[in-house]
Amino acid sequence: MAKRVYEVWKGSNRFLLNGRLMFGPDARSLIVTLLLIIIPVVIFCTFVVRNLIHKFSSYNAGYAILVVTIVYTIYALVLLFLTSARDPGIVPRNLHPPEEEFSYESSASVEAGGRPTPSLQLPRTKEVIVNGMPVRVKYCDTCMLYRPPRCSHCSICDNCVERFDHHCPWVGQCIGKRNYRFFFLFVSSLALLCIFVFSMSALYMKFLMDEHGTVWKAMKKSPASMVLMAYCFISLWFVGGLTGFHLYLIGTNQTTYENFRYRADNRPNIYDRSCLNNFLEVFCTKIEPSRNKFRAYVQEEAPRPPRVPSREAEVDDSGGSRRAKVEDDLEMGDDLLKISQRHDFGDVGDVRSRVSDGFPQKSPEVELGSGLDLQAALGSVSEHHSSLGRRN
Ligand SMILES: [Zn+2]
Ligand SMILES: [Zn+2]
Repeated sequence: MAKRVYEVWKGSNRFLLNGRLMFGPDARSLIVTLLLIIIPVVIFCTFVVRNLIHKFSSYNAGYAILVVTIVYTIYALVLLFLTSARDPGIVPRNLHPPEEEFSYESSASVEAGGRPTPSLQLPRTKEVIVNGMPVRVKYCDTCMLYRPPRCSHCSICDNCVERFDHHCPWVGQCIGKRNYRFFFLFVSSLALLCIFVFSMSALYMKFLMDEHGTVWKAMKKSPASMVLMAYCFISLWFVGGLTGFHLYLIGTNQTTYENFRYRADNRPNIYDRSCLNNFLEVFCTKIEPSRNKFRAYVQEEAPRPPRVPSREAEVDDSGGSRRAKVEDDLEMGDDLLKISQRHDFGDVGDVRSRVSDGFPQKSPEVELGSGLDLQAALGSVSEHHSSLGRRN
């Protein structure tokens, strides 16, 4: 029987309702997040709002607090659902490496008979122009594609995600092109909910203080209010701080991932289109439909192109140029080792520029070949350094 796309999905996502809902592999943490929202709200409604209703001469004002609390909590939970249960902007994997990108390398593998044959090489990176500036995009071995600019491979979900921001363990999903708006609205709605619950609990405490005289007696009368005020105060540092940070990121058109990278590499931000336009881009543009049809039936696989010789096989020849290249790699390896020992983000960019400056006089083929292995090595190091940015 024909299988659907979600049934043979290669990423580590989880699906519900026959592929209609899609979560990250750590979607269970959603339960914790839900409890952290719902339990305090229930305590607030039961021990604070219920008593607060009678403190207002006009009962309508009291009930308004209850209605606002419930409606606003539902709003926050809907935003959580929209963040968590949808495709964050996954780039569909290729079944084969992109053939049009292969380039023939002259200094290639030697067959058993000793006759050199040209071999196919897939450059590890390529340059694309974004807003008039060259941007180097990397090849993703897992997804077999050149990542579009601002796209990154999430190691937790095992997918390439467009406009990758970070993988959020609290919502158990990647935050990317298609759910960033909801993620921001969710976090900011929690910050406002914290402020609201804190203020109303404080108001109730004030009423109790007026009735019983001292703070101590008021606290004994309603310990729930004190607990809620403490909980909201602590939570506000987290969600309020996150809201502020993302307001800054939206205003400057950066992702969390890029923010770490820009600081590390000292690179200019080429996506900044003035504060107002950056906000309009996040909140007022149409969300593109998902590029994955999770419920579609899997297509018959097309015949595979001839296999590309692996790079390991090419290295073990006796050609002089090949040996020189391996030595270059070793030298680079030393450099990379030094960098990783220094644990300094800034130095990665430093070496990267040295690499590109190092081979300007060579022929394009040789430069491509040398750059290939170096970039692969560099890629793994910068990936290692930037793994920070993929966490919350
Ligand atoms: Zn990928
Ligand atoms: Zn992820």
